[in-house]
Amino acid sequence: MTTLIKARRLIDGKGGSLDNGAVLVDGDRIKALGTQDELAPPEGAEIIDGGGMTVMPGLVDAHVHLVNTGEAFSARDARTATSEEMMILAVKNAFLAIKTGVTTVRDLGGKGFITVSVRDSIDKGVIPGPRVVSCAAALTTTGGQSHYKSLEADTPDEMKKAVRYLIKGGADCIKIFGSGGNATPGSNPLASQYTLEEFRSATEEAHRMGKHVAAHVHPTTAIKLALEAGVDCLEHCSWLHPGGLGVDEAVLEEISAKGTFISLGFPASWYRVPLDDIQDVMDRAGREALLEPRYESIKRMFDSGAKVVASSDAGSTATRIDEFALLLEFLVNSLEVPAQKVITSATSLAAEAIGLGDAVGSLAPGKQADILLVDGDPSTDITALQRVATVMKAGKVVAGGGQVFI
Ligand SMILES: [Zn+2]
Repeated sequence: MTTLIKARRLIDGKGGSLDNGAVLVDGDRIKALGTQDELAPPEGAEIIDGGGMTVMPGLVDAHVHLVNTGEAFSARDARTATSEEMMILAVKNAFLAIKTGVTTVRDLGGKGFITVSVRDSIDKGVIPGPRVVSCAAALTTTGGQSHYKSLEADTPDEMKKAVRYLIKGGADCIKIFGSGGNATPGSNPLASQYTLEEFRSATEEAHRMGKHVAAHVHPTTAIKLALEAGVDCLEHCSWLHPGGLGVDEAVLEEISAKGTFISLGFPASWYRVPLDDIQDVMDRAGREALLEPRYESIKRMFDSGAKVVASSDAGSTATRIDEFALLLEFLVNSLEVPAQKVITSATSLAAEAIGLGDAVGSLAPGKQADILLVDGDPSTDITALQRVATVMKAGKVVAGGGQVFI
């Protein structure tokens, strides 16, 4: 089937845009794009006229947790949730993601192989949802960050074996909890959980098997170790140190030089949810003191030459998967990161970071037809991303007008 999508504005996801744009879709792929004058609809083509809207690539959220609720007590609830409950949550979250224009997610920590099954069920058309790049379960130390749902591994050999086990079970990538975090009592966000040798063992084995590695790293000590070990994607990259929070410029320069991705994994609990409503390990005063330095560090990372991906950590405290667009609004309207940069970071750059750069993330001939129509122009009003009118995935309209088509 051939479809021509027209809209007043076209954003390609790589920083380019056109007025009166059109995208020609053939089967599951994009065949051509151009202005409406250039691109005449072939005979028999279906025409989707977006009128004054914007046509753009589907959003890519490079850091989510499908098995978590994303409600205020998400972290606490996840500690006692059964696998069956997590499976149901994952199906619900997949539905919410596609409904709001998130056509691809990378899941960075479920339990067992739940998200692998969800991914496969979506691909088979059993349930609606985005494309899922799944790490299955993350690696953590015994009793470490998110140990209740992760795979505990404590030595280089255990890391290697865990990587093999996860890939055997269908994992697309490997996630390492490289430091403690705020969601797990007893873990330490200020300390690395692994040695260089341990990071390296998991990373080399994953690379040998053709899989990329993402590491959750809050403190600068863990950022440095993960970077040196050759990890592909630094999650959170919070630059914590015993005295507070601040970018280490020499390390940031090295991240840029190596081309390592930074994925913000920046949940709503850091910018949108009242501090009194947050229930996690860090106390209120401790969190409040870090807010401004964290915002400054994010601006600094976007300004540097590093490849920064705007990802949500959906599923963590008070961060719902269908509110990704609110994070993008915060980055543009509060932190003053240029809108096109934020859009690129949540489309083509995010796709590249999760290993799908050749398949999705931008409007280009040959790419999968994962396409949105949004009401407004997000390059001048980022809130347009909260008004997704039509969602196409692999050339099929899968959601629109607040409905998901099953
Ligand atoms: Zn996370």
